[in-house]
Amino acid sequence: MFITANFDSGNIEVINAESEDAIELQIRRDNQSDFYQWFHFKLYGEIGTEHVMHITNASTSAYPDGWKDYSAVASYDRETWFRVPCEYDGKTFTIRHTLEQESVYFAYFAPYSYERHQDLIHWAQQSSLVEHVLLGQTLDGRDMNLLVIGEPDDSKQKIWVTARQHPGESMAEWFVEGMLGRLLDDEDGAARKLLQNNVFYVVPNMNPDGSVRGHLRTNAVGTNLNREWAAPSLEKSPEVYYVLNAMQETGVDLYLDIHGDENLPYNFVAGCEGVPCYDERHERLATQFKETLLAITPEFQVEQGYEVDAKGEANLTVASNAVAERFDCLSFTLEMPFKDNANLPDEDFGWSANRSAQLGADVLSAVYAVANNLRD
Ligand SMILES: [Zn+2]
Repeated sequence: MFITANFDSGNIEVINAESEDAIELQIRRDNQSDFYQWFHFKLYGEIGTEHVMHITNASTSAYPDGWKDYSAVASYDRETWFRVPCEYDGKTFTIRHTLEQESVYFAYFAPYSYERHQDLIHWAQQSSLVEHVLLGQTLDGRDMNLLVIGEPDDSKQKIWVTARQHPGESMAEWFVEGMLGRLLDDEDGAARKLLQNNVFYVVPNMNPDGSVRGHLRTNAVGTNLNREWAAPSLEKSPEVYYVLNAMQETGVDLYLDIHGDENLPYNFVAGCEGVPCYDERHERLATQFKETLLAITPEFQVEQGYEVDAKGEANLTVASNAVAERFDCLSFTLEMPFKDNANLPDEDFGWSANRSAQLGADVLSAVYAVANNLRD
């Protein structure tokens, strides 16, 4: 038996791998941080033998409740990620799987690799609709990519979408892939119409260093980027620094920041009710956006989500709040589950890469619904 996480977005430490029925593993902390929950590793073993893997530091991870009613994903071909039987006893998270091939991958969610990220960027830049902008470099020396979609023009509205500030939330980049597929489809009427009056600014991966390092929540030096939007710095959070500067140059009329939530088995949006500038226009637009999504997909709901901030109580270091306040615009954090959509569960796959991509495509219809009224 051999277990390794020595690859893109790998994360596991082997404590004991002497017998198949009592493998002990631990998840590594994000560098210079206490956060951990993302895992991704490969196991070689005996075909036909059940392997029982105990993650022994589960209860002190960032979101212990995330392990309740959660099943890990596994893959033999690195494309299809299926759920495997798991249990959580309040201390240890246990994965059980009987090997069907010599080697299998396990992960917290279907990984979105750095290679695929670059494929996405370079696929998109082939489109005549797209300008690929290099914003700057991360602390590990990776490139921060921005896709500008549509012909920039002062008269057009600016729609910004960022994903994966928290790198372990790989569903966020699957979402962006689905959204871009629709936006760059020249036979999609809503996309064509949107691009007449709007320009999209899309950052498919806000945190490439954390993604490659196998982090849950932080960048190369342990910074939670979604707490940096009041005062980002080149030392701690160049990713946010570059994106916020670019936003300042273009302006923002609508902002979506795409995430995954460890605990809640639902898709939902968190609005900006707590920012000082929040008024009836924000409220009306937010309602229209949510009602459109409710009408077109059972994957969205509004009953479950985060507590709404009282006016003036918003945390202005959080991206969606900071951008809403700075640009007086409609702004959401969109959350997808690591677990499943409990309103429409799928035992075999749970919430998945494909469902994330479909939601990304569907959200474009909600953008279409509000796009004509963003500044009314
Ligand atoms: Zn997040």
